[in-house]
This record gives sequence, C-alpha cells and structure tokens, in this order.
Amino acid sequence: MGRKDREQASWVEDTRTEPLDVCVLCGREGEMTDHHLVPKSQGRRQGVKLGEIPTVKMCAACQGFLSKTFSNSQLANELNTVEAIREREEVQKFVKWVQKQPLSRGVRVH
Ligand SMILES: [Zn+2]
Repeated sequence: MGRKDREQASWVEDTRTEPLDVCVLCGREGEMTDHHLVPKSQGRRQGVKLGEIPTVKMCAACQGFLSKTFSNSQLANELNTVEAIREREEVQKFVKWVQKQPLSRGVRVH
C-alpha cells in the first residue's frame, strides 16, 4: 500500500510541471506571448486575415524592442521571418544584453 501511495504522488507532481516556452530571439524560457511576424495593422492593409499571419513565441522584452526599434512597415516587409530579424545588428546587440537579464516573473499565472 505504501508503495502505491508514493507512485501516485510522483505522478501528480509530474502533471503540475508544464513545459516552458522559449523565446525565438533570446532563447530564455518562461511565459511567452505570440508575436505576429507581420504587425496586425499591416496585415489588414495587405488583406491578410489575422489567423493567417504566422506567429512565433517571443518574450515581452524582445517584442517591446522590435516595436520600439522598427516601424510596422519595416517589420511587415523586411523583418517578417525570424531569420531576417536575427540578422539585424541591433537585434543581436539587444539579445546579447537581454540574455543576461532575469525574465520578469511578474506576469499573471492563469
Ligand atoms: Zn526574448
């Protein structure tokens, strides 16, 4: 009986550990949000439905950096793939810096 109890306990524990998402740019793990590779307003202008815009998992810091550094039309036309974003020198500098920063845990847990 004692052994059965232990088995069940470890099983319950396993289900509580959910896999963490990884940011496509800085590679930090945590709660990520969906980043639309084409800004939603630009997609609408080009007649692309919201559901058809590819998304990637990205942390809030990287998302904020992109929207602050590049215009929506730059993002839509030149930086609409992860590879293109990674090639930018500004991004590489930012990623190097942000990788040393702790990922904010202040986000709401659902
Ligand atoms: Zn990131």
